Amino acid sequence: MDLKDSPQEAAFRDEAREFLDAHVPAEPMPQYHKEFVEDEQLVDRHRAWQRTLHDHGWGALTWPTAYGGRGLGPIEQIVWNQELARVGLGPSLFMVGIAMAGPTIIAHGTDAQKARHLEPIIKAEQGICQLFSEPGAGSDLASLATRAVSIGDDWIVNGQKTWCSGATWADFGILIARTDPKAPKHRGITYFLVDMKAPGIEVRPLRQMTGDAHFNEVFLEDVRVPDANRLGDVDAGWGVTMTTLTNERMAMAGAGGLFAWEDLLDHVMANRGRVDGATRDELVRLYTWVRTLDMLNARILTKLGRGEMPAAESSVMKLAMARIVTKGTELGLRLLGPDGLVRSGTWQQQWLFQPAFHLAGGSDEVQKNVAAERVLGLPADPYGDRDTPFEELPRS
Ligand SMILES: Cc1cc2nc3c(=O)[nH]c(=O)nc-3n(C[C@H](O)[C@H](O)[C@H](O)COP(=O)(O)OP(=O)(O)OC[C@H]3O[C@@H](n4cnc5c(N)ncnc54)[C@H](O)[C@@H]3O)c2cc1C
Repeated sequence: MDLKDSPQEAAFRDEAREFLDAHVPAEPMPQYHKEFVEDEQLVDRHRAWQRTLHDHGWGALTWPTAYGGRGLGPIEQIVWNQELARVGLGPSLFMVGIAMAGPTIIAHGTDAQKARHLEPIIKAEQGICQLFSEPGAGSDLASLATRAVSIGDDWIVNGQKTWCSGATWADFGILIARTDPKAPKHRGITYFLVDMKAPGIEVRPLRQMTGDAHFNEVFLEDVRVPDANRLGDVDAGWGVTMTTLTNERMAMAGAGGLFAWEDLLDHVMANRGRVDGATRDELVRLYTWVRTLDMLNARILTKLGRGEMPAAESSVMKLAMARIVTKGTELGLRLLGPDGLVRSGTWQQQWLFQPAFHLAGGSDEVQKNVAAERVLGLPADPYGDRDTPFEELPRS
């Protein structure tokens, strides 16, 4: 494993640093996992930042240059994410468009779809939300029940989506729906781009225990979606979905801004009176995890640099990251003493938000399954439903 950047990585890192040092917003970006802030307060700031990125050629690193990107690969994406984390920036609100919908449209879209969406997405003129999860389909996404029925040039969509971040302000949603219930569950799904202003769409915010509402339930009742908004072939939406999810994972590799070790250290120093031997032990244990995460990042970069694809590393990283956020926040909150219970503040807010990191982008248990199968060579979960027609599957 190479612990140092290759000359190319180092050159790219210097370029990224130079840009960020010159352009990072002077006023810190509000971050909803650290403070009470509603989406409306965030959107304009994130839109402005994405525009700055785009204006200077950093809008979408991995998109081809023909669509305004830089045509770079996963190595540069990771280095870029690390540099963003260094200046305290995490994933943008516009990430669903830039990192998920955009690459999917580039890979599977028609010329008309590319013309309609790519430039507005990279300029943050078009916000996109993800309409994948349902009350009965999260980890097992292919169990989704939202139905799309073809009527000539249009599709009629009925169903319910949930946990949809940004659905109150997004212009379009990437939606997957069942189009052939007679096919096995992975095979009868089609992928659509849905205008969020279309009649029949109702967005209901879900208020979280942090006090703000970043997720939404989205109800679709007889929503008419033109066939021209179908992305990829009919019933071939699972493959298109994999393009979206693979790009999401790639975009998140090395991403930070969720928990900063330095913030915890500053907090510890400011509350020295409450630091006992047990706290010191925990701090050291946490530091070993933080460093392990750095090593995993280095291992992924090394593999990519050799032209190999990382296997289960991203699952292990996701698990480790969620654990670091939870343990670090727990420690930070404890150091506040009784104030942690009765006052509001960054540590309290982060504590209330942290359970989300164990679910979003694949739950801990699902990541452990991946690691168990691919790293430890344990037998896969028994799936008995892959060849059964969806309509014959038992559903609660
Ligand atoms: C911050 C955040 C943002 C999100 N944003 C979006 C969004 O914009 N759009 C969207 O569509 N979705 C979004 N989601 C939903 C997210 O993708 C789901 O939460 C995730 O897929 C898990 O699904 P679920 O919540 O339905 O849990 P379930 O799948 O119902 O899981 C419940 C529990 O069972 C466990 N479990 C499930 N399957 C297995 C298994 N095979 N083996 C062992 N244990 C298992 C899980 O680990 C979990 O503990 C978001 C979630 C969060 C937390």
